Amino acid sequence: MALLEVEDLVVQFYTDDGVVRAVDGISYEIRAGETVGLVGESGAGKSVASLALLRLIQAPGEIVSGEIRFQGRDVRECSAEELRAIRGNEIAMVFQDAEAALDPVYTVGEQIAEAVRAHDDVTDTQARERAIDLLERVGIPNPATRYADYPHEFSGGMQQRVVIAMALSCDPALLVCDEPTTGLDVTVQAGILELLDDLARESETAIQLVTHDLGIVAELCDRVVVQYAGEIVERAPVEALYYDPKHPYTVGLLASIPRLGDDSERLTTVPGTTPSLVDPPTGCRFHPRCPYAETACARRAPPLVETDSGTPAADAGPETHLAACLEYTGDLEEGLDYDVQVRDEGGGIDPDPERRGESG
Ligand code: SF4
Repeated sequence: MALLEVEDLVVQFYTDDGVVRAVDGISYEIRAGETVGLVGESGAGKSVASLALLRLIQAPGEIVSGEIRFQGRDVRECSAEELRAIRGNEIAMVFQDAEAALDPVYTVGEQIAEAVRAHDDVTDTQARERAIDLLERVGIPNPATRYADYPHEFSGGMQQRVVIAMALSCDPALLVCDEPTTGLDVTVQAGILELLDDLARESETAIQLVTHDLGIVAELCDRVVVQYAGEIVERAPVEALYYDPKHPYTVGLLASIPRLGDDSERLTTVPGTTPSLVDPPTGCRFHPRCPYAETACARRAPPLVETDSGTPAADAGPETHLAACLEYTGDLEEGLDYDVQVRDEGGGIDPDPERRGESG
């Protein structure tokens, strides 16, 4: 049984400009011990989907429909007490801004010990010992001494490690990390990623990693869910997605990763911007930006289907490669011309649009 199952989840926000469907019918699952990446540009709905898991969507937003099942329990039906038990105990979250997550007037050790006491019936001494263990586990040197330091005495990377220690204080079954390394410099980022990777390997903790960075996903994740304008456009095991992306948006995202040795003068980008979710494009939401769009794309919304057979996503297993593009339902007359793609030496998609035959 999957640890987490999200089915047809819809989250809306009611704004002065109209109703924003930030998450529009997404479905995915996470099994125990696996790391799943939710990827996409800003505004794709990744963070909203993560907050919805713990019913943390606040007014003017609400979960309109869909199911969130965690260990077989329907999270949307949980009482306040049951929800409190799930939050922190079974699902823990790590946000981007570690500094904001820490209280400046308490030492980092006290804050971790407090998190331990909130969920476990332990003495102060036991909570302190556990906090020191956790500081050591997340790679803080001299943890017994650093226990008494305040957040401002830690660097940004160290603060993020402390936040991860707090999240781990109750051995959660699922750790939701929302852009955990954004804003950190690359070497610190590498340290945090290594830490998350070690945690996933050492324990049965599953990780949902929200990021816009496909490089991070390649390093850490077992499977990837690509979101665009509130919808899932591709879902696949990580290798399948990197070596054989099926959706034009994913192809564009992969092509925009800068590569060492690439001497082109301009970085490749996905042209255009994410659409307004108050009034999203008709048909395929990606059609205004898609280099392969045909007339049908503006008229028909492509369902998420198996790319091999066109079987609907609802009947597909978690390892199946799915994409939401009319190519895979047989409704695209000219078809996606992916034959022209040239792989670079590492097997990825060549970032040069000319070599990929996309010039003009
Ligand atoms: S359905 Fe059309 S517009 Fe959408 S991704 Fe496929 S080819 Fe592009």
